[in-house]
Order: sequence, then structure tokens, then C-alpha cells
Amino acid sequence: MYKGQKSIRGGIQDFLCPFTDMYISQGSNGAYSHKGIMANDVRGSSAGVRYPYYAPCDCKCINTYPVTGQIMWQSLKKVRFANGRVDYATFMTAHDNSMDAKIGQVVLQGQQLGNMGNKGFSNVTGIHCHIEVSQSNNTAWVKNQYGNYHFYYEYDLDDCYFVDNTNIIYGRGGNWRTTGQVPVQETSGKEVVDQILHKGSKVKFDGVFSVDIIKRGTNLFGNTKLTGVSINNYYNEKAKSYHWLPLDDFTEVDKYGSSQGQDQVVTGGASYVLNKNVYEVQDIDVKSNSALLVLNGHKVWVYSTFLYEV
Ligand SMILES: [Zn+2]
Repeated sequence: MYKGQKSIRGGIQDFLCPFTDMYISQGSNGAYSHKGIMANDVRGSSAGVRYPYYAPCDCKCINTYPVTGQIMWQSLKKVRFANGRVDYATFMTAHDNSMDAKIGQVVLQGQQLGNMGNKGFSNVTGIHCHIEVSQSNNTAWVKNQYGNYHFYYEYDLDDCYFVDNTNIIYGRGGNWRTTGQVPVQETSGKEVVDQILHKGSKVKFDGVFSVDIIKRGTNLFGNTKLTGVSINNYYNEKAKSYHWLPLDDFTEVDKYGSSQGQDQVVTGGASYVLNKNVYEVQDIDVKSNSALLVLNGHKVWVYSTFLYEV
């Protein structure tokens, strides 16, 4: 996006890529400091320049971490992401040496959000903006097994922002989309599908999911994001039957969702899968925001945030 750019369709803001030029110096699950997290380090057209970046949507500052020039932002309203989901955006930017954001401060879409920098731990990777996006209003910040912090509901960034007017210099093969590629269905100004799930809603799984663990001797797998069950609880067999997902309905893909070159033999902790089937919601648990689905005869409770209504 460029400075001042706005994008709103059907009354919902499109979540835009904050950068005018994007060179991803460290990608999702990068070997240096992104192991197991879906953050990107982005620099501009020339290395070492502290380029400005802009608010991807109307957002407010939720928290600041001055030592690393890090700020947690959250959209004021639900926004539309590049994968078509409509939800709150909670996102982190880091390494801004000139950081002056205050908690509660509101920045509107297109206004300057910060500058690329090297404050904190980024000397090895140079001047950049570290960014990570959660498609939810959950602000929990958890440490993974590699010691890296991340959001619970983080998504790969090509599933988050629209790259209208972003010059992609090095996009690492991501499936980068513009708003033109993600049309919005409108009927007299209202979206046909409201994304408020209820019993009887028809839904699809949204995104690519990791096979975190396989239940020994079965065709069931565990996914911590979909079910909220920790890997420890899966491992120690504390997960309930309805927290395990049958592999039958899933296809093995790479982390970008491509099934090319995959042998459909999945490994716990190393494989990714997706599911293109349509399911009917059997029940809703409002407290945990979960929906009950039946996959290949097996009941599973999954977070509604990873489903979209069709
Ligand atoms: Zn980073």
C-alpha cells in the first residue's frame, strides 16, 4: 500500500499490506528467529533504509514493548483478510527505533504506523519491520518449543494482507493476492453470508493446518490451533476423543497449501494438511466459540474462528 491508501468493500475494511516495497528478508518459520512462527521480516527496496509503513486498517495500540520497538495493534472493527475471512486483526510490529506509540492510540488505515528499524534483537538481519498477524481479537502471546513468542491464531501473511500497490521485490513464493482476486458477494449492500455460525450453518475449514501429533495406531491427528488442546495434553493422552481429527477428510499439502509432490503419508510435527469439504455445524459452544462437526463419522469440536460459512 502507499501512504493514505484506503480500501473498504461492503462496509468492511480490507486488511492491506503495510509496505510500499516488500523484500522478505526472513520468512515464516525462518531458521534465525522465526522457528515455528508465521512472522515475516520485511525490508524496503534498499537494505539499511528506515522506510515508513502504514496502518493496514483502522487500528489501536494495545500494548508496547519499548526495548524491542515492538507494538501490539488491533483493528477497531472486523476486517477482511486475503483468505476471505472477516474477523478482528491483532498484529505485532517490531524494531522501530523511532517508536512513540501510546497504548490506546488510534491510527487510521493509510496513516503512518512506524518505521523499519533495528531496535532490539535484529542486528543480524538488518533494518526491517518484523510483523505477525492474528486473525482474531485474542491477544494471548505464547512461547513455542523453540522459545519464540507468537499469537495463538496467527496466519501466514499471504493469507492476511492484500498487496494492492505493494511492489513485491522478494515475496518468497507466497500466494499474494490483491482485493481484485477476492471478490465480495454483495446483495443490496449486505454480505450474503454473515459468518455468524449457528446450528445448521454450512462451513468449510479455513487455511492450512499442521499435523501436530498423530494418535498412535489410529488415523487421528491433533492440531493445537483448531482445538485449543496443548501439545502436552495431546502427548499425554489428556485430549478427549472430540479433540482428535480424522485424517480421512484431509489432504497433505506443503505449508503454502500445494499438494504437489506430497506423498499423503503424514508425519506428526512435520506435515501440513487442508480440508475442502463442506460440513454442517451440529452444535455451538458460545463460551469457547467452538463448533461441533462430524468428520467421517467422528465428532470434533473446533474453534469457529478457523471455519468460514459457505
Ligand atoms: Zn523477525
